Amino acid sequence: MRVNKHPGTCLECEVEVLMGDGRLIGLPGEWYIVCVTCSPAPPPRGEHDGWHRTPLASLDFETTGVDPLTDRVLSFALLGDRGDDLCGLIDAGVDIPPASAAVHGLTAEMLAGAPAPRDAIAEIATWVQGLIERQVGLVVFNAAYDLTMLRAEIRRWGLVQPDWDRLLVVDPFVVDWGIERGWLGPRGLGDVAAYYDVVLDHAHDAAADARAAREVAYELGRRHPAVATGTLESLMVRQRGWFADRAEDWNAYARTADRGLDDPLGWPLARPAVTSAQTA
Ligand SMILES: [Zn+2]
Repeated sequence: MRVNKHPGTCLECEVEVLMGDGRLIGLPGEWYIVCVTCSPAPPPRGEHDGWHRTPLASLDFETTGVDPLTDRVLSFALLGDRGDDLCGLIDAGVDIPPASAAVHGLTAEMLAGAPAPRDAIAEIATWVQGLIERQVGLVVFNAAYDLTMLRAEIRRWGLVQPDWDRLLVVDPFVVDWGIERGWLGPRGLGDVAAYYDVVLDHAHDAAADARAAREVAYELGRRHPAVATGTLESLMVRQRGWFADRAEDWNAYARTADRGLDDPLGWPLARPAVTSAQTA
């Protein structure tokens, strides 16, 4: 949960909370302050079986920006389910906007001499296809961003798309929303990792983010039997539903606040029909 930027009164125990001393909970447009004592905490780990007891792979990118259709992958971390990790930089040959360099610290000088995008993207696509063929679950925090960008990059370089329809994704961003129904506020990887006591030492380093996202996925499974039970195929169905619910909640607010709308059907990849206009 984010800290409160204004002083207020705890929603639960009504104690006075100074600016920065409490946490924010609630939904877009409907925020409440809670004191640290009353701040929600996750349930303990259970002994149940579930997909969280199977080895999962994990993927994360650092990129030039926030548009998955036009921005570019600059670094990647592909953590294998068998400890076979593949991390690297890409010399994308494009300017790196200062705003994104400020996030991940990657500069054109650091990327000079790294593999060309076509080679690196081909390697990533092959790796993803390998997971699909073995039906290994892939953890991606906010998959709708990273996977949509990967699909756009594969198209950009004229490569063969993985068999996306058969990819099993565990998206801790979506699962966390499904558990909390968004009530704990905006939850980036750093927020969810802190909530589940998962170490995230070098945020916005692709390998560190991918490791933390996978550990968060395991914690979600360990601590929430209702989420962990069932196959990864059934989790895919539930995640699609949660993503749609989240988008519809957001859209209800966004229409009143003149903000951009989300596509309820845009998980784990944005819909091609919505995205196909861009690349000509
Ligand atoms: Zn309180």
